[in-house]
Amino acid sequence: MIKIRRIKAKRPFIPTSIPGASYVINQYVGCQHACKYCYAKYMGKWYGYEKWGSWIIVKENMAEIVKGKYVEGKVYMSSASDAYQPIEKRLELTRNVLQNMDKSIRLVILTKSDLVLRDIDIFKEFKDIEVGLTINSFEGNVKRSIEPFSPSNQKRIKALMAIHQNGIKSYAFISPIIPHLTDVKKLIDETKDFTDFYWFEFLNLKASGNEFKRWLKQAYPESYEIISNKSKFERYMNEITEIIKNAKIKFRGIVTHYPKMRG
Ligand code: SF4
Repeated sequence: MIKIRRIKAKRPFIPTSIPGASYVINQYVGCQHACKYCYAKYMGKWYGYEKWGSWIIVKENMAEIVKGKYVEGKVYMSSASDAYQPIEKRLELTRNVLQNMDKSIRLVILTKSDLVLRDIDIFKEFKDIEVGLTINSFEGNVKRSIEPFSPSNQKRIKALMAIHQNGIKSYAFISPIIPHLTDVKKLIDETKDFTDFYWFEFLNLKASGNEFKRWLKQAYPESYEIISNKSKFERYMNEITEIIKNAKIKFRGIVTHYPKMRG
C-alpha cells in the first residue's frame, strides 16, 4: 500500500548542478518504480519515510505555481521521482504542469515509462524540448530484483521510437552501466536509428546504497569486483568509452562519478 502525502510547493524551479541542466522541477518526490539503486532514496529521510517506493509526496499546487514563471537555461524534469510513475495516470499532475508551463522554457524530460507518450500533444507546443527514456539491459530476474515496477526495456525503446517519429527530440539515457549486466553496444545498435542523442552513466556504487551493494556483491560478484576496484573499473570504463566513441553517435556526456564526466 503506497502512502500518499499532499503538500504545497513554494516555487516550481530549483537550481541544480545536474549535468546539462540549470533547474529541476519535481512535482512528485518519491517513486513507485522503486529501483533498488535509485540515487534519490536519501530523500526519504527528509520526509521521515523509510522504504523507497512505498511513499509519494504530491506537490498538488505545482500546476498553479508554474503559471507565468520563466527561467533561463534548461529545466530538468525530474530529479527526485519519475514524472510518469503509475500514479500519474490517475492524477495527471505532470500533464497539468506541462499544460500551464511557459512553452518557451527549455525543457528536458527523463522517464522510465511509456506513459510519457500520452503527453506528446503538449510536447509539440514547446519550442525547445528533449524527451528521454532511461534504458539498460535489465530483464528477467535482474529486472525483478532491481527495477521491479518500471515498464520493460522493450516498452521504453518503443516509446523512444514513437517520440522521435512524432518529431520530438529524443534521447536515450543508458544507465546504470554495470559490468556484465548492461550491454551498451547492443542498446546503441537497437536504438540509434531513432535516437537523436545519448547520455551514458556508470553506476554510482556509493549513491546506490548498502542494500543494493549487498545484492550486487552476492548475486553478481564479478560485477561487484570490477566496480569496487578502482583500476579494474577504470579499465572497464575505458573499454565502454571506446565502444561509445566507435559507434559514431551523438552523445552529450558520459557520467562516470570518478571524476564526474567524460566529454
Ligand atoms: S525511475 Fe528513477 S526516480 Fe524512480 S526509482 Fe527508478 S531511478 Fe529512482
